[in-house]
Amino acid sequence: MDTFQEATNADETLDPPDWTDVGALSHRILDDAITYLKDVRERPVWREMPAEVRAFFSAPLPRSPAPVADVYDDVARNVMPYPMGNVHPRFWSWYMGSSNFTGALGDFLAAIQGSNLGGGNHAAGLMDSQVVNWCKEMVGFPATASGTLVSGGSMANIIGLTVARNVKAGVDIRERGVGAIPKPLRYYASDQVHSCHRKAMEVLGLGNRALRRIPTDAGLRIDIAALKAAIAEDREAGFKPACVIGTAGTVNTGAVDDLQALASVAAEEALWFHADGCIGALIAIAPESRSLVAGIEQADSVALDPHKWLHAPFEAGCALVRDASAHRNTFAVTPEYLESTPRGLASGEWLHDYGLQTSRGFRALKIWMALKEHGAEKFGRLIDQNITQARYLTRLIDAEPALELMAPTTINIVSFRHRLAGASEERLKAFNTEIMLRLQEEGIAALSDTTVSGQHCLRVAIANHRTRRDDLDLLVSEMLRLGREIEAAGTSV
Ligand SMILES: *Cc1c(COP(=O)(O)O)cnc(C)c1O
Repeated sequence: MDTFQEATNADETLDPPDWTDVGALSHRILDDAITYLKDVRERPVWREMPAEVRAFFSAPLPRSPAPVADVYDDVARNVMPYPMGNVHPRFWSWYMGSSNFTGALGDFLAAIQGSNLGGGNHAAGLMDSQVVNWCKEMVGFPATASGTLVSGGSMANIIGLTVARNVKAGVDIRERGVGAIPKPLRYYASDQVHSCHRKAMEVLGLGNRALRRIPTDAGLRIDIAALKAAIAEDREAGFKPACVIGTAGTVNTGAVDDLQALASVAAEEALWFHADGCIGALIAIAPESRSLVAGIEQADSVALDPHKWLHAPFEAGCALVRDASAHRNTFAVTPEYLESTPRGLASGEWLHDYGLQTSRGFRALKIWMALKEHGAEKFGRLIDQNITQARYLTRLIDAEPALELMAPTTINIVSFRHRLAGASEERLKAFNTEIMLRLQEEGIAALSDTTVSGQHCLRVAIANHRTRRDDLDLLVSEMLRLGREIEAAGTSV
């Protein structure tokens, strides 16, 4: 009896011995967090880490305790001042959202509430399904469709392409594997398709070559006639055309494929129509621009990315599938330790039956709270605002003889470069890369670069609710200044 009592008293926990201390520190962290976002505009968008910060991250595994206040001080000193920068108003690299404070509170509360969204009968599970329903509503999908929240757009695309494969395989692929597919499957997308589709083809066992890249027109949209010709050629050669991927907003230039035409081709040719809407699916809620993505609601599956234009803190993607049973039949497996019960905790839906993960985070809360706070209409207006800002920047570039537009601006992505009289493509690339790096290193703005139609260009992707027009004015004037400085110093050329 005595020994039992002793053992109980000695039981350890991660909970603090005194919650009052934790309260004081938590309030300080919250105050610091508010200041951090309030003053984000005053800080550089990015800065290089000094050697001591780099060294800090090679410390070995801590084996004994430290006061949590000291742990926070470490984070405040070494992590918070050196972000990627995407919460900053002048971050326009690659393509990502700029997060939001309410979403951050959602992430915090999700961790406090702690539920595992693998499924079960609890409020977080219902909220997860509700957010999926809201996503269907935003893109015009029927309520009978299914969907799942995943880590991001890449995973959402994998979900869609996997359902497409299983539906079109012509064999019980889950039992027999890709080796049993009678006719090799072919997928189609434009030559601007995002790289995650290549990874998807590889991981699906179909191989990269099974994804045919179709040439694009002057607007960098899939050439429909070339698509039809490729499908006919493949049928003739004994392949099975299975799926066409339409991109609603390419990552290179923001081009939007003709989704209505793709829906017709898919219907005529009995193909699965998957829409990669990681960038553009949510244009469907933007009052000025929604016609750009007309046809997305006809897709068999859609990938969208709440951590882009809904500014959810990372990570949050969403896959939607029109045919809910095809979706479930692709992933559902019920082992004996996950069987449902008629009542109680295990009586809810098993959400892991719609994807690859078993344990799932409570991603829905950060999306749900921000949508409730602002309403979908405001998110739609913010999407229009970014598109208008990209047009504004395009006009500034057109009006500035030293700058050159490199692709048409359709949505919120502007591809352009600084001119350099008489310079070769190679020198132009070095010159523009130098401008881009100095913009980052001086903390002014974060852009990225790409190659469009064989030519190097800089790229501004405005998926940012903090950007203002004067930020774009500043970008142009700073680019011109850096261009003059680099030219004068003769560096990089
Ligand atoms: C961002 C993006 C992806 C990948 O999404 P992640 O959320 O980064 O995984 C796929 N397709 C397009 C068109 C994208 O812009």
